[in-house]
Amino acid sequence: MKRILCLVAVVFGLSSCGVVSQLNTGRLIQGGVYAAQALTLTDAQVENYVSQYIQQLDAQSQVLPESSPYTQRLRKIINSMDGVNELPLNFKVYKEDQVNAFACADGSVRVYSGIMDVMTDEELAGVLGHEMGHVALHHTRKQMQKQMLTSAAMQGIASAGDNIAALTDSQLGALGEVILNAKFSRTMETEADDYGYNFLCEAGKNPWTMVMAFEKLQQLSGESQSSSLVSNIFSSHPDTATRIEHITRRCINDGYSRPAGK
Ligand SMILES: [Zn+2]
Repeated sequence: MKRILCLVAVVFGLSSCGVVSQLNTGRLIQGGVYAAQALTLTDAQVENYVSQYIQQLDAQSQVLPESSPYTQRLRKIINSMDGVNELPLNFKVYKEDQVNAFACADGSVRVYSGIMDVMTDEELAGVLGHEMGHVALHHTRKQMQKQMLTSAAMQGIASAGDNIAALTDSQLGALGEVILNAKFSRTMETEADDYGYNFLCEAGKNPWTMVMAFEKLQQLSGESQSSSLVSNIFSSHPDTATRIEHITRRCINDGYSRPAGK
């Protein structure tokens, strides 16, 4: 999740390193206290804080209405996936050229019109399966806890105890950086891939769609004209080739055939 503009991710990454390098012993001890508090953050707190941020992001974005062909197409894809409506998810489409989609701890899934323009319904199902994995496996919550160690605004949230606070603008901004620029570990990405794979199989979909989606993003990120629009969801991840291999192997072992001509 993670990730509107690569530039934002780079700047955020650099400033995080700067904070770490300036830590003195006193701040490290204080950081330890914050770490303990962050680890006690409950699911309900995380979901509430993420919801506050998403409400703000929705208000600032061009959310396409239900009558939009994009939204109707997304609903059709979702409804074709058995079991997806059993998860506490809410979907919206943002009218933006960015090739991006992300899911949050509170079950919000946002799909950009840019990714819908370049992907088939099958490929989008593959992307959604992966993103739902990050929600179901609580990856966003784990990322948020980690980021609290390096963001002063986020530490304020962590030190609020069990209470749920109304977030300040700076806290919402810091939370947005965590959500939109989150870099998941290799293990988390593999777990989300495996979750998505299993979900697609159980939903009656051919899991090759996930391989096809990865290949499409890899291909787009290699094309100079479109690369600035491709988020780092999968494409800039160093392990994309390994992940494609892993899912391909599972498809073959489970007896699935790649759709003809794709
Ligand atoms: Zn991911």
